[in-house]
Amino acid sequence: MTRTRLISGIFALLGLLLVPVVVQAVKSEPAFISSLRIGVHPDHTRIVLDLSAQPKTQIFTLSAPDRVVLDLAGAQFTMKTPGPIPKAGLVDQYRFGLFRPGLSRLVLDLRKPVTVKQHFFLPATDGGTGKRMVIDLAPVSRANFDKQAGFPKTALKAEPSASGNGVAQPQPSAQPQPVGATRPKNRRPVIVLDAGHGGVDPGAIGRSGTREKDVVFDVTKRLQRKLQATGRYDVYLTRDRDILIPLRERVRRARARNADLFISIHADSAENPKAHGAGVYTLSERSSDKEAAALARRENRADIIAGVNLEHETHEVTNILIDLAQRETKNRSAAFAETLVPQLRAVTDNRSKPHRFAGFVVLKAPDVPSVLIELGFLTNRTEERRLRSSQWRDQMVAAIGRAVDNYFKNHPVVAYGD
Ligand SMILES: [Zn+2]
Repeated sequence: MTRTRLISGIFALLGLLLVPVVVQAVKSEPAFISSLRIGVHPDHTRIVLDLSAQPKTQIFTLSAPDRVVLDLAGAQFTMKTPGPIPKAGLVDQYRFGLFRPGLSRLVLDLRKPVTVKQHFFLPATDGGTGKRMVIDLAPVSRANFDKQAGFPKTALKAEPSASGNGVAQPQPSAQPQPVGATRPKNRRPVIVLDAGHGGVDPGAIGRSGTREKDVVFDVTKRLQRKLQATGRYDVYLTRDRDILIPLRERVRRARARNADLFISIHADSAENPKAHGAGVYTLSERSSDKEAAALARRENRADIIAGVNLEHETHEVTNILIDLAQRETKNRSAAFAETLVPQLRAVTDNRSKPHRFAGFVVLKAPDVPSVLIELGFLTNRTEERRLRSSQWRDQMVAAIGRAVDNYFKNHPVVAYGD
């Protein structure tokens, strides 16, 4: 999905009414840019623009002083003054306006050298025809920044806009720097795998002493290798060694990676030695509702949903945004769980009602589809033997891999690029 769909509040549509109508036969729809938000993340700074349509764009970096420049053809800013700029993050200040008729420009002044990690468009959050443009900036060395910085070889052509006269102005003379803007990369789905327990917490213990934390760690590593080898995914682990990571921290790590899918892997235990079968859990309605309320109260509101700064939204809007994000996330989590069930059944026993709903903390990211897989019961002798088998682990990993492929076939992430 990349991100879940959200209402981004009230758009400055008033701007539409104030623009003099001087354009007759405009080919492409002029785009009005009604707002800009900056979100600070551990490893990147995200800029989100709200637009009424998707214009042609060009993005590049310039040095001395360090800037990111975004040109938008046939677009016009209807927002008035720059909004708040987070104290942390890579952007110091920004300015914007008509650069010449038919071409608008946004300039981000930088606190330190950056690379444009990615930029892409998403549908507007209100279900209308509008778009959001997302730009992610990540820190980069001075040397790399200087190597990339410079005007692109070909400037973006002006296009008729609502305010311009529709006449493209002569192109500025070619710039001496031969190096163009950073090219957008194709975006691969990001998957975060979470091996349950670890460190001082062994998890379930089998009849013959098998420890859940070891089994699930090995399965998670195998799954990472398997998915990574397809070349189609970026796969990260919440823990890469035998260490106990708090549950909230696991969720935080998935969100920091902007994960498109979070898979937590466990093995079960039960009093009844006959209890058996694999199962998949997604977040239950009730616990997620509670979580929404708790999130709104507890967390830094600016950080709740990636890319959307909620700091200046009302409490009510915040709750609606979280609710919408969660609904979409819940649907996707359930879709992945339903894809998993038949794949697991092909390899192992499933428990009755293999897809269940529960209030696991690790499933509570409001904006990352998440499932928890119980591979089987360590307290069941047959299943403990399977859980110890390298061959069986590979079969389970292959099954989960097929489910991941199916899921992303039906729920592709937004393709980046221009
Ligand atoms: Zn567990």
